[in-house]
Amino acid sequence: MSKLQENIEKAKAYLARFKEAGVLNRIGGEDVAAADGTTFETISPVDLQPLAKVARGKAADIDRAAKAAKAAFADWAAMPGDQRKKLMHKIADAIEARAEEIAFVEAMDTGQSLKFMAKAALRGAENFRYFADRAPEARDGRSIRAPGQVNITTRVPIGPVGVITPWNTPFMLSTWKIAPALASGCTIVHKPAEFSPLTARLLVEIAEGAGLPKGVWNLVNGFGEDAGKALTEHLLIKAIGFVGESRTGSMIMKQGADTLKRVHFELGGKNPVIVFADADLERAADAAVFMIYSLNGERCTSSSRLLVEEGVYDRFTALVAEKAKRIKVGHPLDPETVIGPLIHPVHEKKVLDYIEIGKSEGATVAAGGAKFAGPGGGCYVSPTLFTGANNQMRIAQEEIFGPVLTAIPFKDEAEALNIANDVQYGLTGYLWTSDVTRAFRFTDHLEAGMIWVNSENVRHLPTPFGGVKNSGIGRDGGDWSFDFYMETKNVAFATVPHAIQKLGG
Ligand code: NAD
Repeated sequence: MSKLQENIEKAKAYLARFKEAGVLNRIGGEDVAAADGTTFETISPVDLQPLAKVARGKAADIDRAAKAAKAAFADWAAMPGDQRKKLMHKIADAIEARAEEIAFVEAMDTGQSLKFMAKAALRGAENFRYFADRAPEARDGRSIRAPGQVNITTRVPIGPVGVITPWNTPFMLSTWKIAPALASGCTIVHKPAEFSPLTARLLVEIAEGAGLPKGVWNLVNGFGEDAGKALTEHLLIKAIGFVGESRTGSMIMKQGADTLKRVHFELGGKNPVIVFADADLERAADAAVFMIYSLNGERCTSSSRLLVEEGVYDRFTALVAEKAKRIKVGHPLDPETVIGPLIHPVHEKKVLDYIEIGKSEGATVAAGGAKFAGPGGGCYVSPTLFTGANNQMRIAQEEIFGPVLTAIPFKDEAEALNIANDVQYGLTGYLWTSDVTRAFRFTDHLEAGMIWVNSENVRHLPTPFGGVKNSGIGRDGGDWSFDFYMETKNVAFATVPHAIQKLGG
């Protein structure tokens, strides 16, 4: 049996339980169907066959989950940080123990290749460990002295929170939002994306199996316009951690206005990789190729615009095209596959439509440019490179969220900066140059929340993660996460019997 065949058999075994019993919501530590009994189907993008029937939660289910999160809040918030730390490390251990199952289920539900998903569970566990270690100090504050007064600040968990996640690398992204919330002492209602519900279900089971008290973490599946909307509008939910599209973020802000919801948004991107002629071009090409074609190009931090200095533009884009053509597209469970099928036929159509738009705008297809006939007949798209583009084209301005790269030449530093900043987004930027002074100057003016110089995206958890402009509001990582999930409180103590104004005698 080939390795792929062996993996397909394994995946079938891991998926059998979902096929048989479906995916129920998890509320207050209980498995529950949607209150109105409705379900929706999740399909595999490999062959478009149904994987499971999923409970389709709506406002009544969100209400039940929010009440369960509220009921569990006082005890969870009062648990000493070192106990939360131990428990979260147990969750991380349990995630690691089921890493293979998570990887196989995620690959079949999302189309992401095993090459990358094999590490998704481990990265998820790392997120838990990182925030577990910081749980004991989450409440620490400062002492600020004033004449006759000592102020002591502390942080307290904000309350039950909603976490709404997208379908790209859903397992890892969910842990990234949920781990800091738990470490802060918040309880949670999680609404995962409707295109990829399976690993969210594994995650809550794993957490409860490791000893997380009932009701601390509740899972409600459903569509954005009903379950998602109800969560953002619920009075008991104090904050929404959201990862998804910019226009959904804007809707959530409106929906949350009546209940004055605190929001944290990680949204879309159209991130530039800027390559100067003095850069190490071979390394820059590898990094550019990695950042657009890994994870099927379905990543918010992908470098989807390639800006190259004129003198090396032809040479550099030829290098990228050559590498793109050699990338293996195939079944996500094939260990050799880099690019698997895109998440869903709806998204595949969006990406293919953008490829047609690019052609009609006059850009040149230097690699790919079409659907790929992959195993199972699913949503495969060839890694695509457009050259001869300009920054006014839609393929340079709009987030495609697939394996499609748009290459634009620039004359000098000033023009590179103008092009880089001339988009509505500002999530990441990647700069390649051997001139240190230029790197300082350029990064000073580049409009992005995160910039890597002479590097692809290498995430370090204590650093702030987030975007500017339409790419987001707020930062994740390190203490920034605690600032979102907690309220800062100040208590002032008088240290001398100071004079108090006497009003009314
Ligand atoms: P999406 O906005 O369509 O959906 C995300 C989630 O929001 C889903 O769970 C969906 O059901 C829910 N939702 C939809 N409408 C809602 C509403 N009215 N109220 C409440 N919830 C609602 O995004 P997607 O297509 O699933 O994911 C892709 C997007 O996510 C891309 O734009 C990508 O750049 C972005 N993303 C950003 C980051 C980041 O860190 N900046 C990370 C990953 C993905």
